[in-house]
Amino acid sequence: MAFEIAPLKQPIVTPPNTDDNNTKRRSIAKKLYQKGAITLQDASILAGVDPTQLKNSEAKTGSTILVCGGAGFIGSNFVRYILDTYPDDKVVVYDALTYAGNIDNLKSVSTSKRYSFCKGDITDRERLKEIIQKQNVEYIINFAAESHVTRSLFLGAEEFVKTNVVGVHSLLEATRFSQHIKKFLHISTDEVYGSLGLNEDRKFFEHDPFQPNVPYSATKAGGDLLVRAWYQSYNLPVVVTHCTNNYGPFQHPEKLIPNVVRRLANNEKVQVHGQGHHVRDWIFVEDHCRALDILLRQGKHGEVYSIASNSEKSTLEVVRTIINLMGKSEDAIEFIKDRPGNDLRYALHTNKIKEEFGWEPQVSFDQGIERTVEWYKQNIDWVAKSWANNQEFMKYA
Ligand code: NAD
Repeated sequence: MAFEIAPLKQPIVTPPNTDDNNTKRRSIAKKLYQKGAITLQDASILAGVDPTQLKNSEAKTGSTILVCGGAGFIGSNFVRYILDTYPDDKVVVYDALTYAGNIDNLKSVSTSKRYSFCKGDITDRERLKEIIQKQNVEYIINFAAESHVTRSLFLGAEEFVKTNVVGVHSLLEATRFSQHIKKFLHISTDEVYGSLGLNEDRKFFEHDPFQPNVPYSATKAGGDLLVRAWYQSYNLPVVVTHCTNNYGPFQHPEKLIPNVVRRLANNEKVQVHGQGHHVRDWIFVEDHCRALDILLRQGKHGEVYSIASNSEKSTLEVVRTIINLMGKSEDAIEFIKDRPGNDLRYALHTNKIKEEFGWEPQVSFDQGIERTVEWYKQNIDWVAKSWANNQEFMKYA
C-alpha cells in the first residue's frame, strides 16, 4: 500500500520561548528547595538566579501589579524581573510613552499571557481607577516620571511638575478608593536630599531633610511629600524609596553611560562637565529591582527606604572605565563648562533595608559596567533609535 504524505499547509515552527523555559526551571528549583530535596544554594544554581531572589520568590505571588512608567529604563527592567521570578504574577504596564518610554524595551515579554500594556498618562485619574478596578490590581509601583535633570533645567520644568507632582496626586487619588490595594510603592531619588561635599565623610539617612537644588529633584520631592501625606491622612499602604544613580540595559541615551558608549561608538568627543569630579553612587539596575521587589511585598507601610550600592565614582572615573572597555583613547574626552545646580556628591546609608530584609547589592561596579557596555555595543540600533526620538534636546546633551 502506498501512502502519500501531504505537505503541511503551513510549516509548524514553534520559536523557543525562553521566558517560559526560565519560569519552569525556576518553579522546579523552588519546589525542590521547598520540599527540602536540595539546598538553597543548589536551587539557585538550577534556577539561574541568586539565592536572595529565589528566597524572595517564596513571598505571596499570583497578584496583579500595576507598573506605571514600565516602558522606561528601570520600569522595563523591573517588569522583566517580576515575570521571570514569579510564575504566577501578572503585570499591567501603564505608560504615556513619552520620548523616554519605549515599547521595544518590553519586547521580550510581549508574548507573555501575564503581561498587558495600557497607554495612558498618570494624570488621568479616572482611567487609572478603571484599570485598578477591572484588572484587580493589588500592588502599584510608580516609576512614571520626567527623569532628566538637564531637560528640567533647559527645556523648562512644566512637564516635570505635571508628571512628578500632579501625576503622583492623581495616582494616589485613584488608589485611595480601591479596596484591594496592598501596597503603593513610589520610586524616588537620592537627589531630593541635595548635595554632599566631595571630601565630606557623610551620607544621607532616610529621615534627612529635603534640600533639592534643581527643578527635577524639587518636583520629585513634591511627589514624595504627597505620598507621605496620603499615608498620614488616609492610611494608604505606601512605601517610598530613594535610590542612587542606576545603570544597565535599556537606559535612554540622554543619560551619561549610554551616551558615552554612543559617542565613542560614533568616534565623537565625550563631553564631561567641569573637571568631571562630581561623585555619584552607581547601582546596577537589577540590584535596584531586587530591592524594589522586596519592598513591594514586605516594606512597612508609611516607611521610606534608601537603596544604594556603596560604589561611589566620579564622572571622570566612569568615563575612563567605558573608554577602556571600548578600547578607545582618552583623547576623546572634552571638558565643557559645568551646568547649573550640578550637585557635587550623592550618597545614601542603606542600613535600614539591609537590617530589615537582608538586601545587599550583588553586582560590583566592574561586573555591572562590563555587562552594560557590552549590552549597548550589541544594541547600538536601539541606542540610535532612542536617540533619534530626542531631537529637541540634542543640542543640550
Ligand atoms: P525613564 O525616564 O527612563 O522612564 C520614565 C517612564 O515614565 C517612561 O517610560 C515614560 O514614558 C513614563 N512617563 C513619563 N511621564 C509619564 C506620564 N505623565 N504618565 C505615564 N507615564 C509617563 O526613567 P527611569 O530612569 O526609569 O526612572 C524611573 C523612576 O526612578 C523615576 O521616578 C526616577 O525619578 C527614579 N530614579 C531614577 C534613577 C536613575 O538613575 N535612572 C535613580 C533614582 C531614582
